[in-house]
Amino acid sequence: MYRSHNCGELRASHIDTEVTLSGWVQKSRDKGFIIWIDLRDRYGVTQLVFDEERTPKAVFSQAESLGREFVIQVKGTVIERASKNPNLPTGDIEVLVKELTVLNTSLLPPFTIEDQTDGGDELRMKYRYLDIRRNPVKNNLIFRHKVAQAVRNYLSSKDFIEVETPYLIKSTPEGARDFVVPSRMNEGQFYALPQSPQTFKQLLMVGGMDKYFQIVKCFRDEDLRADRQPEFTQIDCEMAFVEQEDILDTFEGLTRHLLKEINGVDVAKFPRMTYDDAMRQYGNDKPDIRFGMQFGELNEVSQHKDFNVFNTAELVVGIAIPGGNSLTRKEIDQLTDWLKRPQIGALGMVYVRCNDDGSYKSSVDKFYDETDLKQWAEITKAKTGDLICVLSGNTNKVRAQLSALRMEMATRLGLRKPNEFAPLWVVDFPLLEWDEDTKRFHAIHHPFTSPKPGQLELLDTNPSEVKANAYDLVLNGNEIGGGSIRIHDRATQAIMLKHLGFTDEQAKAQFGFLMDAFEFGAPPHGGIAFGLDRLVAILGGQETIRDFIAFPKNNSGRDVMIDAPAPLDDEQLKELHLKLNI
Ligand code: ASP
Repeated sequence: MYRSHNCGELRASHIDTEVTLSGWVQKSRDKGFIIWIDLRDRYGVTQLVFDEERTPKAVFSQAESLGREFVIQVKGTVIERASKNPNLPTGDIEVLVKELTVLNTSLLPPFTIEDQTDGGDELRMKYRYLDIRRNPVKNNLIFRHKVAQAVRNYLSSKDFIEVETPYLIKSTPEGARDFVVPSRMNEGQFYALPQSPQTFKQLLMVGGMDKYFQIVKCFRDEDLRADRQPEFTQIDCEMAFVEQEDILDTFEGLTRHLLKEINGVDVAKFPRMTYDDAMRQYGNDKPDIRFGMQFGELNEVSQHKDFNVFNTAELVVGIAIPGGNSLTRKEIDQLTDWLKRPQIGALGMVYVRCNDDGSYKSSVDKFYDETDLKQWAEITKAKTGDLICVLSGNTNKVRAQLSALRMEMATRLGLRKPNEFAPLWVVDFPLLEWDEDTKRFHAIHHPFTSPKPGQLELLDTNPSEVKANAYDLVLNGNEIGGGSIRIHDRATQAIMLKHLGFTDEQAKAQFGFLMDAFEFGAPPHGGIAFGLDRLVAILGGQETIRDFIAFPKNNSGRDVMIDAPAPLDDEQLKELHLKLNI
């Protein structure tokens, strides 16, 4: 038996008990005549004591030679500590060691296994198994497990069935490139790894499963933006005989349950916002509504003077930064430079100081008088002491730029509090989006999303006006879930694919199986998928999803620990028909 107890469980009530513990040497303090060792495992740390008088000589000298991260087993007696440590659950006791077995030695770890480590990101990833021994990473993994467990319990209690779907499939378009796997048995043919189990969960509805979920890996070969992983986990869900309202209700329930169970937070009914309103008020389809700073559109009150920049702009829009009037001229210039960086790309910024005496002072005083500025303040809801920041230009670009400024200022002002939760549903997304590169319409959600009732005809005349039965769940400025009510008949699906530029043959080759299934009594259905990695990070009050993934990949999609991806040898390539003539 390696252990009678773990390293986190001994208390004063165990005093005088004979115990066996196993774990890692966290640190040792050698005072010459007495040695203390902190023994660590997943459950905690227990102090071991070896002293010249009470510990057998051989054991004492063995203890002297132990290095950090050695794996040891000890037998001894639980005794009361002379100086107790109230910060440690096991801090009332220590174990006086009589027997010591070194189960394994360890090289000196390349970084310290402490809560605050001296290891940089790359090093920690290379030795991720050592990183996992550290509390912050370990606790994140345990936290993730708890969230996943709560999801499973909740959905199971609502009659959802977890069903596994295959990983070796055919392309399911979710807007990214596929990872592909060559087939050895079918020369020249490839599987695609699922970008999501979308088509399979719909087929499960045709199969009568009624309520499905799966905590499932998805694979998307995208250029990795910060904090994206090429493989990530979804809580994927689908329900039959539902309308949008049923889905919102069910998954608002799940989210509320998680916030309560995991964070102890009660959240009232989630607000709903249309996509158009989100864009107009926040410049963003995933608004962080923990704070205000809503957009005020200023076209009507700014395009009547000789200021050409505004007069020629499609949109003039501003936000009031609370207390922003305390910024110095230099700080405002720095903010303007920040907006002009290529990542954001604003051409410039007009600002208005809202002075304490109720007067206004703007960077465009030449063009606008007090009456104009007062109107701007009313529309942006600026108060005395605020700074109104105004951008202008192409609507989509300006909204994105001002949204970036809004988020940046909220971060600087400490308004994005990690333990405050403000979920909302964004609904009525457009169905299609024009893509300049391919000169085609793309499905904003995916090609299986149904248009709002009665809008199918609009597809021919005004495709970009068509709204979808699609919704996103947004939490603290992050899209944590998204889904839609699906098309469930062949004819509509065919029309949809036609508008997305598929020829009949292409549609049949790629999605024939789904359209065939629709002809065998497909029930009305819809669903949603949550990004588990991000959800867990947000509930954990943290920013980076990588910290909640046991073995994540770096920004170039590499696993630096196992060194993947890697080349294949010629034999294997030949077998896979990827290299001929060798
Ligand atoms: N398959 C979709 C996605 O991955 C979610 C859904 O529509 O249910 O975003």
